[in-house]
Amino acid sequence: MDAGFFRAWVAEITAVVETQRDHLTQLDAAIGDADHGINLARGFGAVETALAQASTPTPGSVLRLTGATLISKVGGASGPLYGTAFRQAGKALGDGAEVDLSTLAGALEAALSGVQKLGAAREGEKTMVDALAPAASALSKAVAEGASAADAFAALADAAGAGAQATISMQALKGRASYLGPRSVGHEDPGAASTALILGALRDVAARQAR
Ligand code: ADP
Ligand code: MG
Repeated sequence: MDAGFFRAWVAEITAVVETQRDHLTQLDAAIGDADHGINLARGFGAVETALAQASTPTPGSVLRLTGATLISKVGGASGPLYGTAFRQAGKALGDGAEVDLSTLAGALEAALSGVQKLGAAREGEKTMVDALAPAASALSKAVAEGASAADAFAALADAAGAGAQATISMQALKGRASYLGPRSVGHEDPGAASTALILGALRDVAARQAR
């Protein structure tokens, strides 16, 4: 996978976040302050502009610029958290012109630990970690088992989607939704939902490029 692949992933995220903007905002309206879709649409819009203006010759540089832009343009909890995730993933990818599946799996684990270092959320606390952690594990496991790229990305996206669905029955213990206490139960966490969209976009771009 080269820089073009990662730019295609980010472009796909931008498109999906735009079409799902109202849905993500509605999820946030139920247990937060109704801005998650707006935050991400603004952030990835700025990322699109930044990527068009700067030279990003390597996969790592694409993700590092994405992360830095999200940190500087998105207010709210999710900007610094997603920004850190992309920056840490970009750092883990290094400066090679091509990365393989196993390096990408390591980058996803680095993204997860960056998010957890910043936000201190563990699994089960109804945050984006509940989608990201099982997805990172699923990709690492698929790589260790020698799965094809298509199967590995499918496992990644399925685990993220299942993780996001599992947040419905959780009580929020981190972030704005935690102010609701038990009333946060029964709603999907917006950040877990957007993580599933972001990783679903990765699967879709990989499937398209393989054709
Ligand atoms: P804000 O909560 O500041 O309005 P957003 O609405 O954009 O920001 O993002 C909310 C999402 O951020 C939540 O749904 C949750 O997934 C994620 N989040 C909030 N706090 C944390 C945290 N400490 N660790 C991980 N994720 C968090
Ligand atoms: Mg919000």
